[in-house]
Amino acid sequence: MDIQRYPSVSRRRYRSQCRPGARITASVFGICKGGVLWRWVCAVMLSLASAFVPVASAEVANTPKAVFVILDGIPADVIERVETPHLDAIASVGGYARASVGGPVGQPGETPTVSAPGYMNLVTGTWANKHNVYENYNLSPNYAYWNLFRVVKTVDPARKIGIFSTWTDNRTVLLGERQPEAGDWVFDYVVDGLEIDEVRFPKQPKDAHIALIDDAVAKGAAAVLEREGPDLSWVYLQYTDDIGHEHGDGELFDRAVMDMDARVGAIWSAIAARQAAHAEDWLVIVTTDHGRDAETGRDHEGHTARERTIWIVTNSTHLQPRFWEMPEIVDIFPSIARHLGITIPDNVAQHLDGQTFIH
Ligand SMILES: [Zn+2]
Repeated sequence: MDIQRYPSVSRRRYRSQCRPGARITASVFGICKGGVLWRWVCAVMLSLASAFVPVASAEVANTPKAVFVILDGIPADVIERVETPHLDAIASVGGYARASVGGPVGQPGETPTVSAPGYMNLVTGTWANKHNVYENYNLSPNYAYWNLFRVVKTVDPARKIGIFSTWTDNRTVLLGERQPEAGDWVFDYVVDGLEIDEVRFPKQPKDAHIALIDDAVAKGAAAVLEREGPDLSWVYLQYTDDIGHEHGDGELFDRAVMDMDARVGAIWSAIAARQAAHAEDWLVIVTTDHGRDAETGRDHEGHTARERTIWIVTNSTHLQPRFWEMPEIVDIFPSIARHLGITIPDNVAQHLDGQTFIH
């Protein structure tokens, strides 16, 4: 059995297997009160007992945790060409694959290659004909299609969730936190609202302040992930899309991508530190919400190959063949649920447009 797939089952296995070890240790302590010979015998027995306990502990399924990161608007050809050592480090553990966004062209699920519709594709596991977000304004999400955070908080309210985001609407509108019609659930950890804090981050020409906000968001995310270890988190960083609209393809865009990679590096280091200190099994998924047009790199919305082609970097060592066969952005929802051991309620599962790429 792959114990990481079934954490509740393996936790039961752990408890039943741990008890004999605990009993041995206790009984050894109980008789270790005699002279030199006894102390020697006891030392041997203790070492045997202590050797036994870690064996039992090795059966523990580490607590599953997941964080997904959206780096806005980076085409696959760019992420493949520009040096991104931190993304490479994550991919070297799991994998890197090109993926697709935009849904089935010419069918009801066809979705503009636009930011908010893309985030909604990921967080609801559905295309726009269901989640009802077709643009970045006049947002009116259909909350009947539950997002991943609502699923987690409904299925297992004890689990902690976090959002670290350069766009506050992700939390308040797209996910519908605290809204009765969206399920009335609440994040445990939040770093956002910075783009509307003009005292701390006054607007700068060409959205340069957004890069500073991305820095603060990534830093905040890294600190909370390492200190609190939320069960599911979303990190959203924006500046690459801004510089893309401003300058298109070129050196400035490449440099912004490298800056994003450094921010991911801070998050990845925090998770490595967290994982070293806790019995946890972290899934990291880094992706983007759309590509850009081939002519200039400034625009996106349509269904050309470059606009529809995104990418996924993950540390998962449980990748299915689907991961290597052009998965879709809507596959991320069921993949994360699988890793977390969350059983998706039927009313949600029956509407999902994606399939897991993690086994
Ligand atoms: Zn975008």
